[in-house]
Amino acid sequence: MSREELVVQRARKSFLTGKTKPLEFRIHQLKCLKRFITERRGDIADSVKKDLGKSEKGTELFETIGLEGEIELAVEKLSEWAAPRPVEKNFLTIADEVYVQPEPLGVVLIIGAWNYPWAVTLQPLVGAIAAGNAAVIKPSEVSSHSAKVMEELLPQYLNKDLYPVVTGGVSETQELLRQRFDHVFYTGNSTVGKLVMEAAARHLTPVTLELGGKSPCFIDKSCDITVACRRITWGKFVNCGQTCIAPDYILCEPCIQSRVVDEIKKCIKEFYTENPKTFEDYGRIINQRHFKRVMSLMEGSTVAVGGDNDETECYIGPTVLQDVTGESKVMREEIFGPLLPIISVSGVDEAIQFISEREKPLVVYVFSHDNKLIKRVIAETSSGALLANDCLVHFTVNALPFGGVGNSGMGCYHGRHSFDQLSHLRSCLIKQLKMEGVNVMRYPPHTDKKLGWARFFLLKRLNICRLRRMFMLTALAGLAAFVIQDLRACRWRRLTPKLAPSF
Ligand code: NAD
Repeated sequence: MSREELVVQRARKSFLTGKTKPLEFRIHQLKCLKRFITERRGDIADSVKKDLGKSEKGTELFETIGLEGEIELAVEKLSEWAAPRPVEKNFLTIADEVYVQPEPLGVVLIIGAWNYPWAVTLQPLVGAIAAGNAAVIKPSEVSSHSAKVMEELLPQYLNKDLYPVVTGGVSETQELLRQRFDHVFYTGNSTVGKLVMEAAARHLTPVTLELGGKSPCFIDKSCDITVACRRITWGKFVNCGQTCIAPDYILCEPCIQSRVVDEIKKCIKEFYTENPKTFEDYGRIINQRHFKRVMSLMEGSTVAVGGDNDETECYIGPTVLQDVTGESKVMREEIFGPLLPIISVSGVDEAIQFISEREKPLVVYVFSHDNKLIKRVIAETSSGALLANDCLVHFTVNALPFGGVGNSGMGCYHGRHSFDQLSHLRSCLIKQLKMEGVNVMRYPPHTDKKLGWARFFLLKRLNICRLRRMFMLTALAGLAAFVIQDLRACRWRRLTPKLAPSF
C-alpha cells in the first residue's frame, strides 16, 4: 500500500467515527489553525522569503491576514451556516418541515499552487474544516520551503489523522488522485486542471478548479489616469506579477498610451525605488524555468519601461511593453510575471470585442468615471469577477464568491461560499402520516378529477408572504368589525336611559 493510500485511508477512518460532526470540534480545529498562523508567523514568513523573496510584512499582508479573517468569520458564523435552511413550501407540503441541511462531504483533497503557497492551500482548508470534512493537504512542491514548513508544523496544531499534509511532486499528486475522495479542490494551471478533473471523474468525485488566465484591464480615456495607473501598478507587480488575478494586459486608446506609460513608470519608482532588485518589497520569479518562460514572452514587443533582469537571481524588473498586438507572443499565454503589455483599441466597443473573442478570464478590470460604460462591460463580457476602478481587492470581500468561469475555473470559495462548496446541501422533507386523504389524487386509478386536483396542488405556487398578508388583513378586518360593533353597542346603551321614560 502506498503512503498516499494509507494517509487517505486513515483520514477516512477518522472521518467515519463522526468526530468532525459536532460544531465545537470544528471550531476548536479552526482556532488551532489560527493559533498556528499567529504562533508560527516567523516560520511562515521565512519560508515565503526563501521561495519567492517576499518580505515579512508582504507575507502578512498578502498571505496570512486574509487567512486569519476567514478563520474568524467561520468561527463566528459556523452555527448559522450549518443550521437547517427552511425553504419555500408548496400547497402539498404546507403542514410539513421542508429545509436544506448542510452536511459534510467526507474526505477532501486540497492541491495548492506555489504563488501564494499559504493562502491558496490553507484557505480551502478553512472551508473544509468548517464544513466538517477531513482534508488531505497537498502543498505545491515548487514552493518547497513553504511545503516543508507546512508538513513539519501544521500537524503539531491540527488533528493529524483528519488533516494530514502530503508533500511531493507530480508522481505523489498523481498517486493521491488515484485514491477516492469526496471532493478535489485544485488551484493551479488549466493544463493540470484537466488532468485533475479526469482523475476525479473516475470516482465521480466533484471538483473545484481555481485556475488562471489572462485578465484584461480596460482604461477609459476619460478616467483619472494617475489614480488608475497607481492601482494597476500595484495590482500587476505585487509578488512579481505571479498573482492569478493580476491584470494581465492593458487595453486603451492610443491617445492616452504615453500618459499611461509615464504614470506607471512614476509609480514603479515610487513603490519599488530606482532599483527594485535591491528593494525588499520586490520579490523574485519562483524558479529558473519560469524565469526563462517569462523572459521569452518579451520577444517581438518593445520595452517601454524596465526590462532589466538577472537569471542567477531569478530577477525580472517591473516591465511595460508597447507595440503589442493580439498575436504577439506575450498574448499567447497567461504571463504570470512582471510584464505589462499595452494594446491599442479604438474604444470600449473594440475592448469588449477583444475580451469576448478570448477565453473567459478570472477577472475583467475596467477603469472609468462613466458608470454606464462600466455596466456595459459587465453586460457584454463574462469572467469570474468584474472589478471597476481597482485591482485585486475583490479577493478580500469574503461575501463575494471567488472563482473562475469556463477556462478560468469552476466552483468558488471564500467565507460562506467555501462552506457551501465543501458541504452537501441535503434536501429534507418531513411529512406526517396524517392527512392520507390528500394523497388520493396520486394513487391509481388516475381520473380526470384527480388530475384536476393534482394540477391545482402542484402548479399553484404558494406565496407565504401573500398568504400571511391576507391572513393579517382578514384578522384586521375582523378586529375592526368587532370594535365598530362594540362602539355601536356602547352608544346604544348610553342612549337607552334617555329613551326609557317614554316607554
Ligand atoms: P504548480 O506547478 O504548483 O501546480 C499546482 C499543483 O498541481 C501542485 O501541487 C503540483 O504538485 C500539481 N501538479 C503539477 N503537475 C501535475 C500533474 N501532471 N498531475 C497532477 N498534479 C500535478 O502551480 P502552477 O500550475 O504553476 O500555478 C500557477 C497557475 O495557477 C497560474 O495559472 C495561476 O493563475 C493559477 N492560480 C490560480 C489561483 C486561483 O485562485 N484561481 C490561485 C493561484 C494560482
